Amino acid sequence: GELPSWERVDERVFEAYERNIADDRGHVADYIPELAAADPAQFGICIADVDGGIHMAGDAEVEFTIQSISKAFVYALVCNEFGHADVGRLVGVNNTGMSFNSVMAIELNDGHPMNPMVNAGAIATTALMPGETHAEKWENVRTGLSAFAGRQLAMDGDVYRSEAGTNTRNEAIAKLLKSYGRVTGDSTGIVDIYTRQCSLRVSAKDLAIMGATLADGGVNPVTKQRVVSPIVCRDTLAVLAASGMYERSGEWMFEIGLPGKSGVSGGIVTVAPGKGALGTFSPRLDSAGNSVRGQKATAFLSRSLGLNIFASD
Ligand code: GLU
Repeated sequence: GELPSWERVDERVFEAYERNIADDRGHVADYIPELAAADPAQFGICIADVDGGIHMAGDAEVEFTIQSISKAFVYALVCNEFGHADVGRLVGVNNTGMSFNSVMAIELNDGHPMNPMVNAGAIATTALMPGETHAEKWENVRTGLSAFAGRQLAMDGDVYRSEAGTNTRNEAIAKLLKSYGRVTGDSTGIVDIYTRQCSLRVSAKDLAIMGATLADGGVNPVTKQRVVSPIVCRDTLAVLAASGMYERSGEWMFEIGLPGKSGVSGGIVTVAPGKGALGTFSPRLDSAGNSVRGQKATAFLSRSLGLNIFASD
């Protein structure tokens, strides 16, 4: 199947914006001090299709930091390097049922990070990025995520410094993983790369194109560059389906029926395999850390464009 006609998708994107613009529920994340400065009124939606068509409404080109959504794309890059079996064993694919920065989840599972969408698994994944030095690994992360987006992504220095100055919890998670032998080398340096990757600036439009690259079997539909293999896309989307929306991943699948990944700055990327992807941005979050308007807009678009992967018609 394909997306409905260009005109219909365009209309629905606008309608998703109009229906949800007035919803002011939720709260901007503030555990990273700089994120509390986000403008809560901002709201953008973009759909990119696998032919490179783009539909936007609202603040779709406003930049914000990618945060946890980076986990999905760094995971894809690492899978492309090491393959299904090794990454599956080292990082895992099961939902923890606990919050994204849970230490308990690690302890309850003999030090295994469980899945690449929680901080423990994401840090373990970043540690696997190719590169002899931390600088090389970071450059490979930045270049890889830029290939997904089809443009050079830059780091937000203010958000990076703000998080780097306050992320003792992620440093503790990395040290705990190291104590179990799940991360080797300098765990503080790995957390620094992870913090940088979370601070890359993207827009809802970038997220849609990055997601559409996963929907398109690994070829960026705008630049036509191959970024990862089709198998890597399949594996990454399976992981997102199980754990992309924190501990609400089951509810998300029940309502929306598509693999997605959210981040605490208010972005969500949602992928319709073989068709395209949605990027949304709205900084107010629910209690699990998922954007309120982003979820509602995505649910509306999944329904009205017939995207649910479990629907038989
Ligand atoms: N950089 C954030 C952290 O590690 C990302 C969290 C998120 O978006 O869920 O706490």
